[in-house]
Amino acid sequence: MEKIINGKEISQNIKDEIKLEIENLKKETGKIPGLAVILVGNDPASNVYVGSKEKTCLSLGFYSEKYVLPENASEDELLDKINELNKNVDIDGILVQLPLPKHINSDKILNSILPEKDVDGFHPINVGKLMIGADDGFFPCTPYGIIELLKRKNIKIDGKNAVIVGRSNIVGKPISLMLLKENATVTICHSRTKDLNSVVKGADIIVAAIGKAKFINKDMVKDGAIIIDVGINRIDGSTKLYGDVDYDSVFDKISYITPVPGGVGPMTIAMLMKNTLISFKRRVNKI
Ligand code: NDP
Repeated sequence: MEKIINGKEISQNIKDEIKLEIENLKKETGKIPGLAVILVGNDPASNVYVGSKEKTCLSLGFYSEKYVLPENASEDELLDKINELNKNVDIDGILVQLPLPKHINSDKILNSILPEKDVDGFHPINVGKLMIGADDGFFPCTPYGIIELLKRKNIKIDGKNAVIVGRSNIVGKPISLMLLKENATVTICHSRTKDLNSVVKGADIIVAAIGKAKFINKDMVKDGAIIIDVGINRIDGSTKLYGDVDYDSVFDKISYITPVPGGVGPMTIAMLMKNTLISFKRRVNKI
């Protein structure tokens, strides 16, 4: 049995499906989905992320707009741009690249995006929809990608004990709710959890979203566990990326694992494209 969950391959399959669907919808409706990405400042990592989102958009047949505002742009300037995009009928998704400069209130910005165009799934309306298990919002992209990896690998979630390590708003909390929706029994751990090792050891599915390289080791996992490693870490400034799981140490014990890189990472952008396609399909009444 192949233990490695190949996120690179699975994300490519998803992108191929999206591309085909866009071609068909374009023939039917004469329209294509549009995604607008806004970047404030010139943080090198954010630049790379925005560039790759734009490239993916174009390669899949999306209409794409990119706005780069200067580092010292005011909150009002950014709000004006979002309002303009909220009204633009060709734009189905609006994404503001985080982190924003400190003088801008990120919550205020994210809350100003129309929930119907919030393809990142961070607007409180979409967070609330996730909470109540509604299907007409947007799932945040990284947790959505994790669920997709498990489903496409035919890994049963129903009835499993899932332990999530990390409770952030972008990964830990939403993946907990999504696994609950799939009928897992969910435990959420964090930095104050007592006896973390024994809690994690009870898990059939472990989601590590901690931000600490190689934190989960073989003594913390039970035989046959399924491991989803969300972490992206560097050790001592090296360019090599490490997950939150000590991959080599756990490999012989576990039944499935996502590698870093090439596991969860590539899924995030694929699911952003999927969310934008969903938004478009709602606009043209194809859902
Ligand atoms: P945050 O820093 O927001 O959250 C980290 C969580 O880990 C917190 O809830 C924290 O607990 C918990 N934690 C920290 N130390 C411990 C500990 N010793 N024991 C138990 N829990 C601990 O991180 P994110 O959720 O934003 O990201 C997590 C990782 O995932 C990072 O490496 C990030 O780079 C990566 N990431 C990857 C993505 C992808 O596309 N693959 C997307 C997003 C993130 P507490 O709340 O108590 O402080």
